[in-house]
Amino acid sequence: MQCPNCGSDDLKVIDSRPAESNTCIRRRRECNNCGSRFTTFERIERTPLLVIKRDGTRQEFSHEKVLRGLIRSAEKRPVSADQLEKLASDVESELRSRGVSEVPASDVGEIIMNALPDIDEVAYIRYASVYRQFEDPTVFLREIERLRGRNNAETTENKPETDPKPTI
Ligand SMILES: [Zn+2]
Repeated sequence: MQCPNCGSDDLKVIDSRPAESNTCIRRRRECNNCGSRFTTFERIERTPLLVIKRDGTRQEFSHEKVLRGLIRSAEKRPVSADQLEKLASDVESELRSRGVSEVPASDVGEIIMNALPDIDEVAYIRYASVYRQFEDPTVFLREIERLRGRNNAETTENKPETDPKPTI
């Protein structure tokens, strides 16, 4: 930042206080070069977060849309609305924490796919089948294997072999 009077960037803050009912910080600054004083405001940037779809088009990130997809995946499963709501919020926070204004749709899917198995495995498989589109059955089987590998890594005891075809 430069002094509006002399253009020097040798500035100091002489006062900081919340403004606009705590949504921003007002700072009184003084130029060390010419002594002139001026005020700056610091606000949280709330830019729209855009999702880049496969075809290259952009769409504003929608909490509702993410939540609807999760609800569909978890239909008739022992998953609470709160769990899904929290996951949808976590997805948004994680994306916003990157500080970028655009994210590929695949990142949204990956975050959800990483978190869903901890909530419900059937919901995960359903979500994955829509998200990955499973044009090729081997891709679907690989996803099942991935899930089983994850389970095996989490438990130390030997689990009995399960049918590789999930009952969806
Ligand atoms: Zn100055």
